[in-house]
Amino acid sequence: MTTRRDFLLQSGMATAAALLARGDLTAQQTPAQSATQQNPAPAPAQPNANPAVQPNPGLLEKLRAAASDETIKTTKLTDTIFLLQGVGGNIVCQIGPDGKLLIDSGIDTGTHHLLDALAKLDAHHLRVLINTHWHFDHTSGNAELHLEGAFITAQDNTRVRLSSAQYMAVYDLHIPATSDAALPQETFPETQTLWVNNDQIDLVHAPFAHTDSDIFIHFNKGNVIHTGDLWFNGMYPLIDLSSGGSINGMIRGVDQVLALADDRTKIVPGHGALGDKAALEAYRQMMVTVADRVEKLKATGNTVEQAIAAKPTADLDAAWAKGSIEPNTFVALVYDSL
Ligand SMILES: [Zn+2]
Repeated sequence: MTTRRDFLLQSGMATAAALLARGDLTAQQTPAQSATQQNPAPAPAQPNANPAVQPNPGLLEKLRAAASDETIKTTKLTDTIFLLQGVGGNIVCQIGPDGKLLIDSGIDTGTHHLLDALAKLDAHHLRVLINTHWHFDHTSGNAELHLEGAFITAQDNTRVRLSSAQYMAVYDLHIPATSDAALPQETFPETQTLWVNNDQIDLVHAPFAHTDSDIFIHFNKGNVIHTGDLWFNGMYPLIDLSSGGSINGMIRGVDQVLALADDRTKIVPGHGALGDKAALEAYRQMMVTVADRVEKLKATGNTVEQAIAAKPTADLDAAWAKGSIEPNTFVALVYDSL
């Protein structure tokens, strides 16, 4: 059955542009979020009354401690493209005569492990670092990798958000501004294309999705896509509403990726195992199902507490409640972003 949401989403980017033009995307956000999107400065710290937040003010320290003890798992995706897992979000490295190109820098306490793993791939230096979005588990190795010689590129809002203190309401988490060495040297609003190591690498912005700074990266010849945190493979995803994220933007971003993928495309999620088009389609269907159910609950006057109590994900939890985002939190994030 084709739902109204499917119809809207199948229209793809044109729909997203139309919604943006109409103001629907920003109209559905809170005033604080709208202000953030127009001028993406840090959202004001405010007590979060939402019953489903997962306060985790010590999260940075926990992740840093964990990353310092991690080993890196390296998986060969093609002759020149490798997946590196273990210190924060999933990292991809492309090797070749132009030097190494890296997608995301992980958590800084694990950077020495990352550099060891990179040295084992080939003898060339690190030249380019792409950030999929601003979150610390994808960028906190930036400064050290920049000092190693990496030129850093990212979407405009990644630099804006790294430049100033941020607040993530979902974890009640304050994150300080980064050092200048960690900031991207180059930013772009929508798309950027690099021709590196004999491949065309497209960097594509997915607006108001996991954050307002998300890009996915498409290796055309390698037939590999890194989705950033548009995709948490096999889990309910985090949607960072404090950074301009929204469930509809997540679904549209996934649709952008699916439109470029074929059955042989290796698709790297921000978190979780390496995946493919079928797995990403299943994740999209889960998000559409939850969004439709929560939208109906909201439209019929249920508060967020009542929407959570209705357990709209009950039949999905066995398959999808495997990550750090609990079902109640996911329902609340979806509710608040519709
Ligand atoms: Zn993230």
